[in-house]
Formats: sequence, C-alpha cells, structure tokens
Amino acid sequence: MDRIIVIGGGLMGCAAAWQLARAGKKVLLLEKQDEAYNQGSSYGEARVTRSLGVENDLFTYLKECSVLETKTLVELLNQWDDEKHAISDIHTDSPVTYLYDQSLLSDVDQLIRDDSYQTAINSEQQQDLFGVNFPEKIVIREFKTHSGTLNPKELIRKLKRGIRLCGGEIKHNTLVDSILRSNEGITIDCKNVKTSLAESITASQIVVCAGPYTADVLHGITSIFDNLLIRKRLYLCFYQLEKEYWASLSASDQDRFKSFFPIANFNEDVYYSMIEKMNHGAPLIKVGGHMRRFEINDGQDIWKDHIPDTEVDWAKQETLNYLDGIGFSINADQLNYVNGYACVYTLTQSEVPIVGPAITENGEFLNDVVVVAGLSGIGAKGTMAYGRHAADYILGNDVHDPMYQMAKKQMAISSPA
Ligand SMILES: Cc1cc2nc3c(=O)[nH]c(=O)nc-3n(C[C@H](O)[C@H](O)[C@H](O)COP(=O)(O)OP(=O)(O)OC[C@H]3O[C@@H](n4cnc5c(N)ncnc54)[C@H](O)[C@@H]3O)c2cc1C
Repeated sequence: MDRIIVIGGGLMGCAAAWQLARAGKKVLLLEKQDEAYNQGSSYGEARVTRSLGVENDLFTYLKECSVLETKTLVELLNQWDDEKHAISDIHTDSPVTYLYDQSLLSDVDQLIRDDSYQTAINSEQQQDLFGVNFPEKIVIREFKTHSGTLNPKELIRKLKRGIRLCGGEIKHNTLVDSILRSNEGITIDCKNVKTSLAESITASQIVVCAGPYTADVLHGITSIFDNLLIRKRLYLCFYQLEKEYWASLSASDQDRFKSFFPIANFNEDVYYSMIEKMNHGAPLIKVGGHMRRFEINDGQDIWKDHIPDTEVDWAKQETLNYLDGIGFSINADQLNYVNGYACVYTLTQSEVPIVGPAITENGEFLNDVVVVAGLSGIGAKGTMAYGRHAADYILGNDVHDPMYQMAKKQMAISSPA
C-alpha cells in the first residue's frame, strides 16, 4: 500500500494524520519533538474556541465542523480503546465574552446573533444583563455548547491515540531536512535529533503541517511559501490569582469569575485571556494581545527570548482592568506574574489559513503535496476541520455542501501567475 507522510505533529498534522489513518491509509507522522509536545503553536492547555461572525462566516463554520469531528473522534476512541474518553476532556464549555468599542456598532450589527448570544449595547443593559461595567463598550456574550476553551495537549494526545489504534505510525525526534519530488514519488530526508542518524523515507503523497517552518521544509519543491507565509513573533504571559483571594470568594462568585473567561476585547491590541487551568487551587490566567505581534525572519530560537517588562506590565494591567469591569476589584499583588514566553506562528496576507495542494513557482498545482499553514492565532478552534479538508484532498473526497465548498475555495492557494 502507498504510504502517506504527514510532516509536523502539532494540532494540524495530528488532525490530518488521524483522518487519513481512520480512512484506512498507511500513515506515517514525522515530528521533530519528543512525544511530549513543548515548543510550537499548539503548546499549552487552553485555546479560545468561539464562533461569533457575519453570515456564512468561515471561522464559525470551521469551529462547528471541528466540534462534530471531535465528537466522532471521541466516539470511535470509546469503541476501540480501554480508556474512557469524553469531549469534556478536550472542551471546557464556558460563555465567551466579547468587548467592542462603541465606534464599531455598525460592524457589530452585521454579526449573526441568534439565541446563543446576548448583547448589551450600553451601560444600563450591561448592568441588567451581566452585572458588568465597561463604559464606551458593547458587550456580547456567547453561550454555545462547546464554546469556551479547548485543550490542545489533550486533543493531540487523543489524536495520536486514534492514529495508532488505526495502525498509523508516529516517529518522534525526527527532523525533516529536505523533501524531493520526482516521477518515482517523494523522498524525505530526515534525521533523528537524539542520535543524529540520517534516513531517507519515500512516500506517494505528503501533508506538510510544519507550522512556522513549513516554507523551509518545502524549499526542495517550491519556494512560493516564502512569500505566502508571514512569520510573526508574539508573547504570552501567565498570571496566578492569589490562592487566599480565591478562597475568600463564595462558590457562586468563583463560578461567576470563571464564567467571564475566555474574553476577547477588540481594542487596538485585541486583548484576550482565558483560564489556562486551576493551579494550586486558584485560576492560572493566560493573557495575550493578538495584534501585539511582530514580523520576524527566523523563528528557531524564539522560545529562548526574554519577555520585555513592558509586555508583562501591559498584560497585567489589561487583566486588572477587565476584572474590575466584571466586578472583581483586586489589588495588583493578588495577581502574580508566573511566567511567559515568546512564540512564533505564520499567517497569510488575507489572514485566511491555507489548506490545499502546494503550487510551484510556475503555477503548477502538486496534488500529491498538501499544505496546511498560516493558522495564525486562530487555528485551534478549527483544528479538526482543517485536518479533514487536508485529508479530503489526499483521499480525493469532496463534500457537496455549500459551506464546505466555500471553505475549500477560501483556503485554497491561488496561482501566483
Ligand atoms: C500564543 C498563541 C495563542 C493562540 N490562541 C489561540 C486561540 O485562543 N484560539 C485558537 O483557535 N487558536 C489559537 N492559536 C492558534 C493555534 O494554536 C494554532 O493555529 C495551531 O496550534 C497551529 O498548529 P500547527 O499544527 O499548524 O502548528 P504547530 O503546533 O507549530 O505544529 C507544527 C509542528 O511541526 C513540527 N515541525 C516543524 N518543523 C519540522 C521539521 N522540519 N521536521 C519535523 N517536524 C517539524 C513542530 O515541532 C511542530 O510540532 C494560538 C496560537 C498561539 C501561538
């Protein structure tokens, strides 16, 4: 049987490899890190998953599709595995809170808000509906099943379990150096990062999901991704809510506190935060600024970067302001910076991710090389849908659903010619 190789074992590579293994294909997943994933876009235990958008919104569709595919994964694992699996291992349902400047009222009016959303467009409504106070803001809250946060670490673990149960193979500590494509097939040169042993592996088709290194990995085939993918560095900060403060809250106040995360504030930085996990009995809050990102040339050593104090201070002040607005006025010393890191991801010019056959400098589509890239800071919520679309290209499947076709078209790579 022809072998399909998936390069990169983050969320996207695992999701694509799972779909292929489940379809009965002989799959090999190559990942440069050890079984424990600790350096990449998919690192961590929480990502916001949400679905507020305009009519036929691509990202809402991908999120909803991803939830359905996750349910299927859990169902199948429960049929095959001794371990019990539940969707709640991956998804923590919680209302998602959105803040918009009043100046964006006309944009807000375009958003589809069915029964799953509540909106307060002025202070009075904010108090009545939610008991919050954000002058100059519009507050929307999303109450959808499987909106809230998802846990990438657990999703990756379950996907790998599924791949192996279907007979797929995963090689960790395997760094792909180069890929060559000829009439005989595709040859991948890689080496074991622990032993330095080099190896050449052949495949009939490949899916490249190497995150920020996708363009580099593809150089032996095409250089077009150098221009299509923009590499950005961003920071993440983690703050521990003081244990004594948390213990002093009543159970209902603790529930209320939790229910106001995750949050996305569409100010100029696009502040977002979520509860990463309960740590030492109190919330560990993750904070970032979606637009506080900078273009960089090389992302290899970014994880060792020092986080500037300005970033740590900004993230903390924004969080204190938010907590104050939802009615938890705490002192600065009750929210303590624990750690943070710089990370890297790629995005496309249009900010729509790429899922589709690679393309050469001459505009030739390569149907045996499928790429998933440019997921920016928004990919996790659609993980299983991106994996499904990538696998469908390899399997030659198509789905005659208008939204599927819309997504396929929007995510396809367009010819440079
Ligand atoms: C800070 C941050 C916050 C985010 N917040 C959210 C959020 O709240 N909601 C949301 O929906 N999305 C969010 N995202 C986006 C989401 O996490 C990413 O879109 C997703 O993790 C991308 O997964 P990936 O598999 O494409 O990339 P990665 O996770 O980077 O995976 C690529 C993999 O390829 C491997 N690799 C690279 N080069 C090679 C090679 N040469 N050989 C072998 N292996 C290789 C890497 O080790 C890595 O495991 C966030 C991202 C970041 C960085």
